[in-house]
Amino acid sequence: MEALTNLRGLDKIIVPIRLSSKSKIKFQCYPGVPCFKLCCSNLFLPLTPYDIIRIRDKLGLSTDEFLLLYTEPFILPKSGLPIVRLKMSDNEDKTCPFLGDGGCEIYEVRPLACRYYPLGFGLFRNRDKRTNEEIYYLVKEGFCQGLESGPEITVEEYRKSQGIPELEKPIKEWAEIIMKKESLGPIEVPEKSLQLFFMVSSNPDRFRSFVFESKFLDIFEVPEKTLEEIKKDDLKLLQFGFKWLKTVLFGENLIKRRKVVSSVKKIKPF
Ligand code: SF4
Ligand code: SF4
Repeated sequence: MEALTNLRGLDKIIVPIRLSSKSKIKFQCYPGVPCFKLCCSNLFLPLTPYDIIRIRDKLGLSTDEFLLLYTEPFILPKSGLPIVRLKMSDNEDKTCPFLGDGGCEIYEVRPLACRYYPLGFGLFRNRDKRTNEEIYYLVKEGFCQGLESGPEITVEEYRKSQGIPELEKPIKEWAEIIMKKESLGPIEVPEKSLQLFFMVSSNPDRFRSFVFESKFLDIFEVPEKTLEEIKKDDLKLLQFGFKWLKTVLFGENLIKRRKVVSSVKKIKPF
C-alpha cells in the first residue's frame, strides 16, 4: 500500500497517531484559546484545484493573479507530481498571507488542509482488496492547546463539522490520479505529462483555453452539453480535466478519442 499525500505539517509532526473515520478525538479550537493563530505560520500548505478556484473567487482575482501573488509550485514527495502550495509571507514568522488580527480572513473558503488540522490524511491503495482506503492521523504539535480538550467526537464527525466531505467529493478523481501515480513507484514521467497535470491542477483558465483554442477538440470527442458546461463552470471543467488526465495518462478511455487523428501527436502515458 502507498500513501497518497499528507496535506499539512509535513515537517512538524511530533507524534503521528493513526486513526480511522470511527476513531474518537478530543479537540476544541476557538478565538480565545491562548495559542490562537500559532498554527497559521511557516506551513507546508498544498492547495487542491478546488481550493484554488474558491479562494480566487473570494478574493475577486483572476487565476493568474492569485497564483502569482499567493502560491508557489512544489512537487508532491511520493508521486513526484507538481501542484501548488500557499506561499507564506516574507516576515520573521513566515505567517500565512491570510492571517489577520482576528484570525483567518478567508475562513469560509479556507483550504482543505486547514479544515483537517489537527488531523492529517492519506489515501491508500489496498492491493489485496483492490480498494482505496482513507486513513487519518493526529498531528500533535506542542503548541496546540486545543488537543485533548472539549467533548469527544469521531474523526468523521469532525470532518463533517469542518465541511470537508463536500469539498473532497468533487476532487475525488484528482486524488485518485495522485494515488495511482504513487502506486506506480519511482518511474520516470514525461515532462509533457507533468505539465498537463500541473495545468489541470492549478489553472482552470489555461486548461479551458487548451480545450477550446488548441487542437484538443480535433482529438477528443466531447458532447455538446459538456462543452457548454465547461465553458462557464470551473468546477465542471476541473472534473472534466480529471477524467481527461486519467484518459491520457493512464489510458482509462474516459474521454472518447476521435477516430482520425493522424496529424496530431499522441500524448505519451506514464
Ligand atoms: S494551535 Fe490548535 S488550538 Fe491553537 S489556534 Fe491553532 S488549532 Fe486552535
Ligand atoms: S488559510 Fe486561514 S486557516 Fe489556513 S493557515 Fe491561512 S490563516 Fe490559517
